[in-house]
Amino acid sequence: MSTDAPDSPWSASVLTLYPEMFPGPLGASLAGQALRRRIWSLQTVNIRDFATDKHRKVDDTPAGGGPGMVLRADVADLALEHVLQPGERRPILYLTPRGRPLTQKRVKELAEGPGIVLFCGRFEGVDERLVEARQLEEVSLGDFVLSGGEIAALALLDAAIRLLPGVMGKAESGVEESFSGGLLEYPHYTRPRLWRGREIPPVLLSGDHGRIAAWRREQAEHVTRERREDLWAAYRARRDEQE
Ligand code: SAH
Repeated sequence: MSTDAPDSPWSASVLTLYPEMFPGPLGASLAGQALRRRIWSLQTVNIRDFATDKHRKVDDTPAGGGPGMVLRADVADLALEHVLQPGERRPILYLTPRGRPLTQKRVKELAEGPGIVLFCGRFEGVDERLVEARQLEEVSLGDFVLSGGEIAALALLDAAIRLLPGVMGKAESGVEESFSGGLLEYPHYTRPRLWRGREIPPVLLSGDHGRIAAWRREQAEHVTRERREDLWAAYRARRDEQE
């Protein structure tokens, strides 16, 4: 056993119709090592195990008509009940395109907490009454539609796990990156100095840390202004407030 494992690992419970998708990519690389070192733990629960009829049905047709199927609230709730501990402190998140967009700020808060319970939707999603009754926090990965919540759950877990103490090599690699200062990150370069006729920007080889920092800030501001009007406006508002 390694000596660096905390007393109780950051714990993730995932409710899904496809438990075989976990840990999937989170079994490799940084997250995989951290799982084996018990920095985080993973429980997967198959929602279908809580179906009550002999066909193990988890979905039904939408009330009011329309295409697709809807996950039943009663079945999903039994699955949730199964993972919730007495005095449960972990937030319960439902991955859905109708949710608030996930941000690095929220990921950081989640990483600083005791863990997370994730509900992965399928079909057209889950009956709204489950969301209300269990006060699920609805989060979206972005303005596009996946076929299920599993890949979104894996992405969210990956983002949180890399922030857990002891997971990333250098503590600062989580501090100076995209979004942490409200800007997208500056571009990176490494050897060789000349590649396909392209030089590394000379300022980065100058050894002048003040000039390097200024150049990087300028680049970060430039790319944010070009690509992300929303982040740029928020950044400027904050800057003006400070002045
Ligand atoms: N009919 C739904 C989409 C269902 S997609 C709608 O239009 O809102 C099926 C499942 O995939 C969802 O229940 C959700 O769990 C997951 N999913 C799809 N897109 C997602 C996204 N952008 N972020 C997070 N989860 C998503």
